[in-house]
Amino acid sequence: MMKKRQGQRKPNIKPKKGACPFCKNNLEPDYKNYKELSNFISDRAKIIASIYTSVCAKHQRRLGVQLKRARHLGLLPYLPQA
Ligand SMILES: [Zn+2]
Repeated sequence: MMKKRQGQRKPNIKPKKGACPFCKNNLEPDYKNYKELSNFISDRAKIIASIYTSVCAKHQRRLGVQLKRARHLGLLPYLPQA
């Protein structure tokens, strides 16, 4: 049987309702706009799940590619900054 992990809670972020910010502004995620993309990574440098940012599935996929591209170029961190 699987042991139930105690004390683990979901991140304390309320799911946002509303349109995808990329669809709304007719934008595409782009590694050159890495300052904008930094809104979609957590303080642990992880990509935030789309339910918390209300990004649609199409743009979440593209966002992942562009974020990784920006990381590779050193524009965004792989690890949280000390
Ligand atoms: Zn979208």
